[in-house]
Order: sequence, then C-alpha cells, then structure tokens
Amino acid sequence: MNLDDECIHGLPPYSCTMCKNSAAVFVTDGGWGKYHLTTDCPGIASGQGLVTARTGYVGNIHRTTVGSRKIDGRDPCLVCRPPRRS
Ligand SMILES: [Zn+2]
Ligand SMILES: [Zn+2]
Repeated sequence: MNLDDECIHGLPPYSCTMCKNSAAVFVTDGGWGKYHLTTDCPGIASGQGLVTARTGYVGNIHRTTVGSRKIDGRDPCLVCRPPRRS
C-alpha cells in the first residue's frame, strides 16, 4: 500500500482545491482497513492492540483527508463514523 499522501486527483490533498476542504480523517499503519474521524476512537486503540500483540509495534496515526489515496480500500470506522468519500 502506498502511503504517500496523494488524493484521488493525483495531488497532495492539502493543495488540491477539491480535497483541501474535505473532512480530515485518520488512518493508522497496518492492515485492518478502517479510517477514523478522531484519534480518540476506540477502534484505533483496538486495531493498534491487535498489531501490537502480533508484531510488538504500535502503528503511527496519520492525519489525512477523505480524498486521500491513503484511504483507498479502507472502510469508514463503524465506531466513530467518519464521512464517506463522495
Ligand atoms: Zn483531490
Ligand atoms: Zn473509528
């Protein structure tokens, strides 16, 4: 998975006029496939717990936007309910 922050329009989301005003969301390193509205989400902690138990490594949290390629293939978290990509 490519973690370079690029939006669905091929630009850095913070400079893309279509994406820079879109909602900020958070993703973590690792493969459980969700994105989150808040870093306080219990879903992040449980995901990190799973990865930590498996690898001994706590995933970093990355701030991004709904338009970012970083959330390609990820589903909105069912706990904190971030906006879906429109
Ligand atoms: Zn964009
Ligand atoms: Zn969440």
